[in-house]
Amino acid sequence: MNEDNKQHTQPTSPSSQPNATRTFSASPDDLDRMKPRHPAGRGYYQRRGAGQQSPATPGGAPRAPHHTRSPHSGNRPAYGPARTSTHLGGRRDRPPVPDYAARGTQAAGAAEHITRRPHRHITEQIDDTVKKKSTLPTGPLTTDNIRIIPLGGVEEVGKNMTVLEYKDDIIIIDAGFSFPGEEVPGVDYIIPDITYLVERKERIRGIFVTHGHLDHIGGIPYIMDRIGNPPIYTRMMTSVLIKKRQSEFPHLPALNINVIETNSSVKAGNMTVRFFNVTHTVPDAMGIIIETPYGNCIFAGDLKVDHIDQKVLPEEQAVYDALSKENNLFMMSDSTNTWRPGWSHSEHTIQDNLKEIIKNTPGRLIMATFASLLVRVIFVIKTCEEIGKKVVIDGRGMINSVDIAKELGILKADSKVFIQPEEMEQYPPNKVVVIATGAQGDEYSALMRMSNKTHRKIKIGKGDVVMLSSSIIPGNERRIQTLKDNISRQGSRILDYRLAEIHSSGHANADEAAWVYRMVHPRFFMPCHAGHFMLRMNAELAQSTGIPEENTVIPDNGMIIELQDKAQKLVILKERAASEIVMVDGLGTGGVNEVVIRDRKTLAEDGVFMIVVVIDAKSGKMLRSPDIVSRGLVYLKESQELLRQARLLVRKSVEQSVAGMRPISPDYVKNAIRESIGKYLFQQTHKRPVILPVVIEV
Ligand SMILES: [Zn+2]
Ligand SMILES: [Zn+2]
Repeated sequence: MNEDNKQHTQPTSPSSQPNATRTFSASPDDLDRMKPRHPAGRGYYQRRGAGQQSPATPGGAPRAPHHTRSPHSGNRPAYGPARTSTHLGGRRDRPPVPDYAARGTQAAGAAEHITRRPHRHITEQIDDTVKKKSTLPTGPLTTDNIRIIPLGGVEEVGKNMTVLEYKDDIIIIDAGFSFPGEEVPGVDYIIPDITYLVERKERIRGIFVTHGHLDHIGGIPYIMDRIGNPPIYTRMMTSVLIKKRQSEFPHLPALNINVIETNSSVKAGNMTVRFFNVTHTVPDAMGIIIETPYGNCIFAGDLKVDHIDQKVLPEEQAVYDALSKENNLFMMSDSTNTWRPGWSHSEHTIQDNLKEIIKNTPGRLIMATFASLLVRVIFVIKTCEEIGKKVVIDGRGMINSVDIAKELGILKADSKVFIQPEEMEQYPPNKVVVIATGAQGDEYSALMRMSNKTHRKIKIGKGDVVMLSSSIIPGNERRIQTLKDNISRQGSRILDYRLAEIHSSGHANADEAAWVYRMVHPRFFMPCHAGHFMLRMNAELAQSTGIPEENTVIPDNGMIIELQDKAQKLVILKERAASEIVMVDGLGTGGVNEVVIRDRKTLAEDGVFMIVVVIDAKSGKMLRSPDIVSRGLVYLKESQELLRQARLLVRKSVEQSVAGMRPISPDYVKNAIRESIGKYLFQQTHKRPVILPVVIEV
């Protein structure tokens, strides 16, 4: 199989490729709270670059049409044999590469279907010495313009990262990642394209992190090294979450983390950076104020407003009162829920309801929520302490979160409140509350294991109440339904957010956000943290508070926005910063690129078909009947006729291809087998498996 493991390269014509939308939109509400599928993302990544060569499939099966899904159809186009031609050592007509980025997520909003620029189906290893030619000079800005570039987080939910540049100084806000969907099987994360920063790394003065959710900190281990490890500034909780994650990458240089508080100010190059507290679902969330000669540029992070019945609480009011008195030039703000009317449920209301439920549940209460919803988890623990119930914490993420909160003193509870799962039997059921991960139905989460009886320590049954204190992240509906069915089968009762107000999001609804915009009243506004449609809704919301349309911008990743003429006008440059999709995958011994992804999908959908032929090196004669191994295509035992025909075909291909050829070229033989078997299998099965011919010369 030696040869077949090689990935051949050949030129590809960009014009042959369909345009594709970029839809790595995870989940509108809270990607923040999802947990990584791999505890340590393991640090190898590749990306598409410009002008590189594109590898073909290993084995070079003349594959294609059905992998090129139109973003609009999702169907397999008809098989077109004319597209495939294979010749000795040569180029094959390479069909368009699967636009896996284009698999339509219809639900993600109409905007996701807007085709923006051609997808470049090209891969290169991340190697910062191979630079894409940037048309922009990399030196300090010679103008007096303020440059703002969203590198991630604005055509999607996830991988938030924004750059502010003024004269010689560059400041970065956040460095998140996103979780890919089924478009890229097996890929762990998608991170922002930081080419622009790598080219200018000596001018980076610091990276400021708004809060500790993974769509804001997840990219750090893959990025810091490559941009020269600039200092990180953030609040305590976030710093601990960053360090905890970084500890899973012991080979990386230590981070330079500086813990600041909201009353701190930091000199970053010639600019001063200040902070303000924002309300979110994780403690220590903050907004960032970068002072420029023309006013403040404000990066608000994820936020909601702390209120009860739409009356803003005094502490929150004070923060925005202070901000409202400043000269605020520019604001970037979260669009996750600004398409929803009114105000979000107050977390206080949710907490009141939770308290009632905890008090009145006659049996054991199992509460499942996101480990990152730490504010609520802390509240539940405190409440249990107050009314004399014991708490079991279950699930790795939840245990970690609670440990961090204890360490930092954010959670001050008597250690007697906590008991181990084994000790539960010693207490009456109505004195026990279990807080666990798994409200999204994740396969191996604590709650899922309880529900399907694979949890070693916690069994649920009649009398137990399972409370799902979370919303349903779009895409998880079926898993959650399975989860509920399983719980129900055990005889437990289920409470979810549709039966009781027990969940509220960490992101502001429209009227709430409008309140913030009125308080901050920036001259310029840029929405972030959503796909295009929701960004537009948020921009329109900002306009409704009096910000002129020409002073708002609906950004794309990599768009370069400048405040020009002494920050009098907002201009979008025609140049762009690189914003390719950068994938993180696997152990770091190999790489992931489109070839790998395509093979994963083919293997999953059509299987693999392997043919081993032994030929005489001199005469080219086949020495015995070919061996055939196949997985995932047909059940071989019941497909004897297909195998027999395939063997005959192989024999014919070998004979024809070696006729008159001296010396024998195994590559040529393999291509001939691949082509004839590919066509034959498609005729017989309408499948296009990965075909791996192996030619052994003796
Ligand atoms: Zn976020
Ligand atoms: Zn968040």
